[in-house]
Amino acid sequence: MRRRETTPSELLERQLADIEARDGEVHAYLRLTPKSARAQAAAADQRYARGEPLGPLDGIPMAVKDVLCVDGVETTAGSQILAGYHPPYDATAIARLRAAGAVFVGMTNCDEFAMGSSTENSGYFPTHNPWGLDRVPGGSSGGSAAAVAAGMAVLALGTDTGGSIRQPAALCGVVGMKPTYGRVSRYGLIAFASSLDQIGPFTRSVTDAAQVMQVMAGRDPRDATSAAEPVDMLSELEAGVEGLRIGVAREYSEVEGLEPGVRARVDEAVLKLEGAGAELVEVALPHTDYGLAAYYIVAPAEASSNLARFDGIKYGASDPNAQTLVETYLRTRRQGFGPEVRRRIMLGTYALSSGYYDAYYLKAQKVRTLVARDFAEAFRDCDAIVSATSPTVAFELGAKTGDPLAMYLCDVLTLGGNLAGLPGISLPCGEAGGLPVGLQVLAPQWREDVALRVARAYEMASGVTARVAPA
Ligand code: GLN
Repeated sequence: MRRRETTPSELLERQLADIEARDGEVHAYLRLTPKSARAQAAAADQRYARGEPLGPLDGIPMAVKDVLCVDGVETTAGSQILAGYHPPYDATAIARLRAAGAVFVGMTNCDEFAMGSSTENSGYFPTHNPWGLDRVPGGSSGGSAAAVAAGMAVLALGTDTGGSIRQPAALCGVVGMKPTYGRVSRYGLIAFASSLDQIGPFTRSVTDAAQVMQVMAGRDPRDATSAAEPVDMLSELEAGVEGLRIGVAREYSEVEGLEPGVRARVDEAVLKLEGAGAELVEVALPHTDYGLAAYYIVAPAEASSNLARFDGIKYGASDPNAQTLVETYLRTRRQGFGPEVRRRIMLGTYALSSGYYDAYYLKAQKVRTLVARDFAEAFRDCDAIVSATSPTVAFELGAKTGDPLAMYLCDVLTLGGNLAGLPGISLPCGEAGGLPVGLQVLAPQWREDVALRVARAYEMASGVTARVAPA
């Protein structure tokens, strides 16, 4: 576009045509916003044509997970309870991307309120993996990952509470980054678990992820947990791994359920990083198994509190036939929430209730501290920790829907990063059985630059980059 070879409007029309051609099979989008997208692209056309100052993402088509408020666009968190909700404002991340010139093409499918690892908990329909239409795209941000993987968006936003950006990125063969807790404002994000949620990008290259991070990150007075740390995602991106210490943890490389094909690709990737000049060190993350159990107390506990507002009065579509206030609450919540969300509300309410709080919630918080300490210890000996992102490649639709515990185990390698608030990135590192394998790089708090640099070094050393899945 800068070279005047194409325009934002041409790019958008091509993008909309690609969506038209492929989304009938993939089902990545819940709704498209061609009218407002065309207006944004036309405005970008003008900026390019007049030689006006351009934003870093000027005219680039972007998809948004259905949990981020976009002014005037229906935003439902993948839930029937929010059907018809049109937020009257932009989330801060959206506002910043808008100011940088991004063109919003639509809202992507996700697990209801971001609870899940396959996008099958969507209150609307499941999304299919572009690399194998009988497979899940991962979740909860499966629509965003699938859109980028199928060439139906250049960039997409997701959220990651226990792995919901990194795991679908891995299963769809794209790049996905979860920032440090507090790095990106959560203002305008429909909350799942407020002490864990972070917003991040899906892209087809590490450099693109760094660009989006640079635009979104930084202090926002509307989110008290957002940090004023300096933001520099780009200047060390090409610095390579020469002299960096890369940690490998046995608890991660020998985790239960790790598929041999995944392990082989990740082992090769680690050797590539060594070949590029990194020093490999062994580190320990002894509380990994307990972390999974703690996460599935803390996240539902926070969800049960956050979702209390969807009662048919404050938020949520209320049933006009309800006769009393209590009946309004009951009918709204029974009809509006799907089974997994109901399960989480019950688990969370139980863990927080008097008599059980100390035994479950408080205990889980203590474990959370131990997990964070594991990482703090490990990062004394290394600059970044590398592992598989997901123990498995994309599994078949329906394979885990009847077994919540099997679904929860998808997050065993990612949720430690959320419990400890660390930044992490997943990027493609080859295939197993024709399906993408993801490499995870975790870094210390506020060191997105290190995670990105290691990821970029792997891209350069291996020549492996995200591709659009063939139709
Ligand atoms: N799969 C995890 C869960 O169901 C993580 C979801 C997420 O990161 N939003 O809680």
